[in-house]
Amino acid sequence: MERIFNFNAGPATLPLVVLEEAQNELLNFKGTGMSVMENSHRTKEYEAINSEAEALVKELLGVPENYRVLFLQGGASTQFAAVPMNLVSVDSHADYILTGAWAEKAQKEASKFVKTNVIASTKEENYTRIPRIDEIKVSDGPAYVHLCSNNTIFGTQWQSFPDLGDIPLVADMSSDIMSRRFDVSKFALIYAGAQKNLGPAGVTVVIIRKDLLEGIPSNIPTMLRYDIHAKNDSLYNTPPSFSVYMVNLVLRWLKNNGGLAAAEKRNTEKAALIYNTIDNSEGYYRGHAVKDSRSLMNITFRLPNEELEKKFAVEATAQGMIGLKGHRSVGGLRASVYNAMSIEGCMALAEFMKAFQSKNG
Ligand SMILES: *Cc1c(COP(=O)(O)O)cnc(C)c1O
Repeated sequence: MERIFNFNAGPATLPLVVLEEAQNELLNFKGTGMSVMENSHRTKEYEAINSEAEALVKELLGVPENYRVLFLQGGASTQFAAVPMNLVSVDSHADYILTGAWAEKAQKEASKFVKTNVIASTKEENYTRIPRIDEIKVSDGPAYVHLCSNNTIFGTQWQSFPDLGDIPLVADMSSDIMSRRFDVSKFALIYAGAQKNLGPAGVTVVIIRKDLLEGIPSNIPTMLRYDIHAKNDSLYNTPPSFSVYMVNLVLRWLKNNGGLAAAEKRNTEKAALIYNTIDNSEGYYRGHAVKDSRSLMNITFRLPNEELEKKFAVEATAQGMIGLKGHRSVGGLRASVYNAMSIEGCMALAEFMKAFQSKNG
């Protein structure tokens, strides 16, 4: 059977060469006579995977010396609680910028444990854009400011990040990590579930500045403590070893294909194929995001009516392009075109869009 073009928002498509490599090694990983899944995490083979993945995250993103890279479980959703628990002391609070459903969830979860302020939000505009820098009013001495770099559901993305001086900036980068270059040193903590841009579900990457590992309150559950995981090199308990192994293969693939500069170039070209089709459709396709907030990863758009949107998804599926139905809160269509989506997939979708319009316009 042919592989399809998978535009799902997550879990998402993986590079074919990575899947083939995993397949080749599945029954006998590096002469161990067993798969990575069956091996102990206390072996030199697994420790090599763990440390190579950590080193590749650092190399690809240019992570400075004063940061740790951790591989944790529980998804990005667990970080919604772990971040405030670890970083906010009893007499402090945290600021949140709301740009979509995930940012809202992060703030809501944090507010169970600590005082939170919403310091900017585009909810009133149905999250069609990222707030301008001058709309962000940081409160007095927050423990951190939290933002979501790419809004998976609404299809918007921060084009540049606010400069907050000494105030720690925390970002949920689940749906755009490793898709473009950015300055890690602007952030105190970055987290990302792997299943969009890095590998399969089951592991969450956390990049944390080392000074934040000091003074974590003693009543935080062990498994949520960044200091414990850092001290144990992400091997405090049994890690999601196969997921980390897959992330390592994806990171190698990224490196072999020119690193983040090349990924950014490919992603810009890929997204342009689809955005240009929207922009040249004389209003047949309408993008949800305003132009200067458009995401390179999740492209959200509407058709003239819901019937056509349904028909579009059904016919696209019949042509081997799946996962295009938009999230219910936005409606319409969404093409998720993460790192592993090929340019051929984006070309096929753009051609399909043009043909669909000619037939149904
Ligand atoms: C998918 C997603 C999440 C949720 O991730 P889980 O790993 O399922 O908890 C959080 N934030 C963003 C931006 C996402 O895209």
